[in-house]
Amino acid sequence: MNTSRPIRARISPAAILHNYRQAKASAPDAWAWAVVKADAYGHGQLRAVEALQGEADGFALLECENAVALRESGVRQPILLLEGIFSERDAQQVVKHGLHSAVHCLEQIDMLVAHARADRPLSIYLKLNTGMNRLGFDEATLPLAWERLKRIPAVNLTLMTHFAEADGERGVLWQLERFQALAGEWHGPVSLGNSAAILRHPLAHGDWVRPGIMLYGASPFADQSADSFGLQPAMALESRIIGVQTVKTGDRIGYGGTYTAERPMRIGIVACGYADGYPRSAPTGTPIAVAGQMTRTLGRVSMDMLACDLNDLPEAGIGAPVTLWGRGAAGYVPADEVAAAAGTIAYELFCALAPRVPVAVD
Ligand code: PLP
Repeated sequence: MNTSRPIRARISPAAILHNYRQAKASAPDAWAWAVVKADAYGHGQLRAVEALQGEADGFALLECENAVALRESGVRQPILLLEGIFSERDAQQVVKHGLHSAVHCLEQIDMLVAHARADRPLSIYLKLNTGMNRLGFDEATLPLAWERLKRIPAVNLTLMTHFAEADGERGVLWQLERFQALAGEWHGPVSLGNSAAILRHPLAHGDWVRPGIMLYGASPFADQSADSFGLQPAMALESRIIGVQTVKTGDRIGYGGTYTAERPMRIGIVACGYADGYPRSAPTGTPIAVAGQMTRTLGRVSMDMLACDLNDLPEAGIGAPVTLWGRGAAGYVPADEVAAAAGTIAYELFCALAPRVPVAVD
């Protein structure tokens, strides 16, 4: 819906393409699934796929219905279901449309066995639980998986795992060791690295990497910026000042009065609140750009508005452009910095962008 309320999310397909190329350059010996799950981390699945058409080695997502929609819209590259199938119908669709499917439990193998055909080799990503303890086979269940897989008449197999702490101090080696122990004599293809492993752990790429957050121009690391990896922000959340208040020393701002003016101040009211996806947990001091200058938010974020400090922006009045995150008309505010101030990660900010926010494509 396009409304005249001034808030907009701007998506840059060129940035997504640039970031995909950065992923490829960081993992030069691997193929790369472009992870477009969760509506391409809030950027729009179709937009992201279009940006990468003809360039991505494959697309990875969750819902079989979305994979089929991509096939039907003409996408010929491989499509991987990252969590595999959820139903018999999904199994049928995997066979019919030649989708790649992760397999993390025996039930999924059984559903695929029921629909597999000798003339249509199935491409299966066998998921190993190497320490994340979320999905996948371990020492106890893997032998059963190998047995059941024999019932599929024609299969191309890849072993995969997912890293739990590739962005942190513990790193990936401990999971790689478990992966090798589970994989045993396996010499076929493996799929390992997420964005953090792609950028920091060259030993943990495998034949297929799976970049997600880096495609959208945010950093997987709390201690290193996206800029330092040459990534470009793919989403800008922009709005405008819709109200200006002049307050006296001691006046309190917004719900709960959590910010008290230390001096007479000009306050700008921005058309953006938590119902737009801006985190309510963002405290006073969260970076925000107004009319080409960095400033800070003040007080609590409301449903539809937030306040910011215009003291050093005497010219900024009603209608002044605001960038909440990303590279926008009012300046550059890394989403990672807004997320860190709010005690979360850019992944969550992007995914929480509300449907009511109109999207413009650059
Ligand atoms: N692979 C799998 C199995 C995932 O679940 C995800 C995302 O959570 C990714 C790859 C991409 O991870 P990131 O966005 O950290 O690159």
